[in-house]
Amino acid sequence: CHQTGTYSSLRRPLPLPPINQPLSVAEFCLSLFQRTSTDGSTTFVVNETAGESLSHSQFVSQVRSLAYSLQQRYSLSQNDVAFVVSPPSIHIPVVYFALLSLGIIVSPSNPLSSNSEIAYQIQLSKSVIAFATSKAFHKIPFLKHGTILLDSPEFLSMLTESNIDNIIKSVKVNQSDTAAILYSSGTTGRVKGVMVTHRNLIGILAIIHRYNMDQGKDNGMPPWRPVTFFTVPLFHAFGFFMLLGMVLSASTVVLVERFDFEEMLRAVEKYKVTAMPVSPPVVVAFVKSGLTKKYNLSSLQRLGCGGASLGEEMAQRFRKKFPNVLLAQGYGLTETSGGATRAIGPEEAGRYGSVGRLAENMEGKIVDPETGEALPPGQRGELWLRGPTVMKGDEKATAETLDSEGWLKTGDICYFDSEGFLYVVDRLKELIKYKAYQVPPAELEHLLHSHPEIVDAAVIPYPDEEAGQIPMAYVVRNPGSNITQAQVMDFIAKQVAPYKKIRRVAFINSIPKTPAGKILRRELINHSLSNGLSK
Ligand code: AMP
Repeated sequence: CHQTGTYSSLRRPLPLPPINQPLSVAEFCLSLFQRTSTDGSTTFVVNETAGESLSHSQFVSQVRSLAYSLQQRYSLSQNDVAFVVSPPSIHIPVVYFALLSLGIIVSPSNPLSSNSEIAYQIQLSKSVIAFATSKAFHKIPFLKHGTILLDSPEFLSMLTESNIDNIIKSVKVNQSDTAAILYSSGTTGRVKGVMVTHRNLIGILAIIHRYNMDQGKDNGMPPWRPVTFFTVPLFHAFGFFMLLGMVLSASTVVLVERFDFEEMLRAVEKYKVTAMPVSPPVVVAFVKSGLTKKYNLSSLQRLGCGGASLGEEMAQRFRKKFPNVLLAQGYGLTETSGGATRAIGPEEAGRYGSVGRLAENMEGKIVDPETGEALPPGQRGELWLRGPTVMKGDEKATAETLDSEGWLKTGDICYFDSEGFLYVVDRLKELIKYKAYQVPPAELEHLLHSHPEIVDAAVIPYPDEEAGQIPMAYVVRNPGSNITQAQVMDFIAKQVAPYKKIRRVAFINSIPKTPAGKILRRELINHSLSNGLSK
């Protein structure tokens, strides 16, 4: 309906469970898992690095056992927050599902985060307990209910309780309850805790369920059950909702503790992997690497790519090199609990450069950032989204990001074409995406300001073929200071997770700002680009 400037989803509306029905996203997925799983001995999750795995029936039994043990041994209340910090392992889906079924909020974090980054996240989420590997233990501050070590005998004993009749059923989780707190900087400033409800996640998982059913039907088969290799992290919205989706699909999930391209290729061959959620750098590696010839990748059917922008040319080159693999782009945000648009099937995926059409039940609007006016197809403006997967809020920016009618302001400059395909062209917000990981400039600027020889600083994205963008700093030195580019980079590298490192520095006399003191990032970006080109 373009008169009111609103774009509706062109997909069949997707009925969701009645909103007042108590239902956790764990229950929603597990009931479909049990219906779809035909053989309990099928592998559910493998950690290829550690050589560990769980079958479908072991997974369900461990989830129930852990939920029971948590109830017995810890006096946690519903809506308490549990912080989870671990590399991928077979325990992560068990921990997520046990917590979600008890109505305890899961707050997953990047294990590469520094001590101060983790301390800040815990403060934001008000976590009262943590689940971590012993390697990360030293990063976690004292919490009310302590830290459960995922590699301790105590934790392992919690996975094998007997005597657990129906205990999980005694917990009543409302769909409107918060299920997860995920970390995102949103449109401005430092990281925030994004509250995603059970309903939000059910909204996304119902879409995956429909897709599996349709795939099966189209081929005269039972619902699709992909064998999936995870290249995306389990603590980020993309990996988080996909992992829940693996349970619902009764799939097989292959994990590695640290991503390595060749190890991934080996695993695709070994497990006959059919699907992979990926971010653009993995697609770039597929296109450029000669290693792909060494392995039998014929099982691969589908790559779902999202998290950052994938160049049109790269998508075309992928298609040429792997004509039998469907490369389908999707677009989403932590604030939409994951995917808000995507391409389905070869025809939609063939719209190179587009991130697909709006997901089921999602509405979009393109808004002129200056006038606030809603714009017709073909015109660029800020994308606003409204729908069942839009977050409940975050502790700071709610009013700035979510308006009173429920529209989420994405901070992305986009346009729709006349057939409802969305194109992401630029970013209005400050966010930098290094290999699809979020780097909030404000956080790095804050650290730069703390250096005694730095008067002022601004951090902007600088284009990079492999990483998409790298963080670049413009620095104003103290008069008389001879601090070097390497010293600036080193100063930051010591204090942040590796993906947030500043990888390019330029010195400048002053940072361009509006009269109100807001950094004119566009000016700096243009400056960096023209300088880069002239080199
Ligand atoms: P995150 O919350 O980490 O998922 O980051 C969300 C942001 O990533 C979006 O607002 C976009 O700026 C960017 N993004 C996600 N998916 C895509 C995509 N397919 N194409 C371009 N940008 C994307």
